[in-house]
Amino acid sequence: MVGTSVAEATSAGPAAWWSCEGCGSYAELPAEETAGFTIECPDCPGVMIAQWEWDAA
Ligand SMILES: [Zn+2]
Repeated sequence: MVGTSVAEATSAGPAAWWSCEGCGSYAELPAEETAGFTIECPDCPGVMIAQWEWDAA
């Protein structure tokens, strides 16, 4: 393991790209915090759908 700062630890890890099917708004969220959850759209009554995710490492 190479030295890892707290900042790197919080920003690293898989991320997921979420898109609202109602208004097209989007957000990038940490995959491990959103897995299994329904994300409500901040801009409309709709829900956001995970489009894809990637490993930021
Ligand atoms: Zn929306």
